[in-house]
Amino acid sequence: MGNSNSKDGSALEDFGIEYASAIESTSLVNIKDNYGLFIDGDFVASSSGKSFETLDPSTEKSLSVVTEASPEDVDRAVQAARVSYEKYWKKMSGADRGRYLFRIARHLQERAREFAVLETLDGGKPIKESRDVDLPLAAAHFFYHAGWADKLEYAFPQRELEPHGVVGQIIPWNFPLLMAAWKLAPALACGNTVVLKPAETTPLTALLLAEVIRDVDLPPGVINIVTGAGETGSAIVEHPEVNKLAFTGSTEVGKLIQRSAVKRNLPLTLELGGKAPHVIFEDAALDQAIEGVINGIFFNQGHVCCAGSRLLVQESIADNFIDRLQKRIELLRVGNPLDKNTDIGAINSKAQLERIDQLVKAGIEEGAEVFKPSCSLPDNGYWYPPTVLTGVQQSHRVAREEIFGPVLVVQTFRTPEEALEKANNTPYGLSAGIWTEKGSLIHWMAERLRAGVIWANTFNKFDPASPFGGYKESGFGREGGMHGLGAYLKNTGGSS
Ligand code: NDP
Repeated sequence: MGNSNSKDGSALEDFGIEYASAIESTSLVNIKDNYGLFIDGDFVASSSGKSFETLDPSTEKSLSVVTEASPEDVDRAVQAARVSYEKYWKKMSGADRGRYLFRIARHLQERAREFAVLETLDGGKPIKESRDVDLPLAAAHFFYHAGWADKLEYAFPQRELEPHGVVGQIIPWNFPLLMAAWKLAPALACGNTVVLKPAETTPLTALLLAEVIRDVDLPPGVINIVTGAGETGSAIVEHPEVNKLAFTGSTEVGKLIQRSAVKRNLPLTLELGGKAPHVIFEDAALDQAIEGVINGIFFNQGHVCCAGSRLLVQESIADNFIDRLQKRIELLRVGNPLDKNTDIGAINSKAQLERIDQLVKAGIEEGAEVFKPSCSLPDNGYWYPPTVLTGVQQSHRVAREEIFGPVLVVQTFRTPEEALEKANNTPYGLSAGIWTEKGSLIHWMAERLRAGVIWANTFNKFDPASPFGGYKESGFGREGGMHGLGAYLKNTGGSS
């Protein structure tokens, strides 16, 4: 496992340096044999008695059995959220709501290690990412929104606003706890109650969060967590008493949800896929840019909606850049997600692995050249090596479709105009990256790129105060910052 030999002799072992594995202990985590649905402050059984297994994708071993919520269970959860909204949450002062959010944030910090290990076990991401990114950011979202809860009239002065009521939230498997925090914290800060559905393959950290919700004495029914597959999500979307929907996931499912929401005139935010251009100009600081590109595509195995999955590199430096990039990739360590040295963990599910494999094969058939490092992969579990596809044309599927895996697609350009044209030539518009030493070029590009988030000389920087969201097929609405907060309030007649 990991990279011990590189083709050109640049492996660390050649310098007499060898990593010793550093496996994070799982002793802190107490995974139950089975989990009920979290409705009205309690774990309860499903009306249908159905359940499903959740696996560790790095071993394919079962971790636990989770309850599948039927439409009747979703209805129970919505009713609990409604009662709780009327009885407690709507009447509570912003300062008191904020206190609960602060408490959740502090509990997340106190139990960060336990949450990080569980996230890694259930989802396959490297422990250093769940520990250093997912957990701190999840806590930060609760802290940030706790601060807003009693200041909404300053955030939106001279407007008469009120919460929507019961919010339905559906989240994906790539950042399970973090996406729960992105959704729950602003909804609660604004006075809404929630029915949340985690993804089928990664329900465990949301269920551990349910324990925290109980420990902080949040009034029952303010947050309800229903586990299940697409049908459970659909039951939330179709429920007549849900007042607002928020979804993160695939563009395909996002469009289904949009159709349903439009029919009922329901407020909706959609955070969907991406195919972000990562543009490297010839004057960029190349070593830093290479680290940025590596982080942009291999962070979380590339299961990232804003991943820098399309590298656009200026022709004059392309050969040198790709050569250096490939040498750097040789040093990435792929393997046990619980090892603190691991850079690339397991692919989240068998279905996702098959999708990645299928798209890469399509790319090769269409004429792309493939680079994979000389790393060996574990025998069990779902794995895909970091991969670079060169010789890619704009019309190729791999240049247009979201692969959502550790696969970088490379194209070149000669002028800023051509870079811009290629960068914007995508159905998506979530994020983009620019690397150049020229500030004027950064501004020129940033003004013209059709992407919701643009990073310059860095990538994948997130902050709860900064709005995040897309254009075109990447969705609409923003999460984070005051823009994200506003989505959880409705205008009741004041000036806007
Ligand atoms: P989905 O869009 O199917 O999943 C996202 C969430 O929606 C999950 O909780 C899922 O439940 C739920 N869901 C599925 N069908 C419905 C429905 N009809 N109504 C309501 N909710 C529903 O993504 P996939 O997991 O199938 O991944 C497919 C592709 O989507 C990936 O390969 C990737 O390209 C992209 N993707 C993008 C993400 C992003 O952040 N932009 C995140 C995840 C995926 P369940 O998990 O049980 O199916």
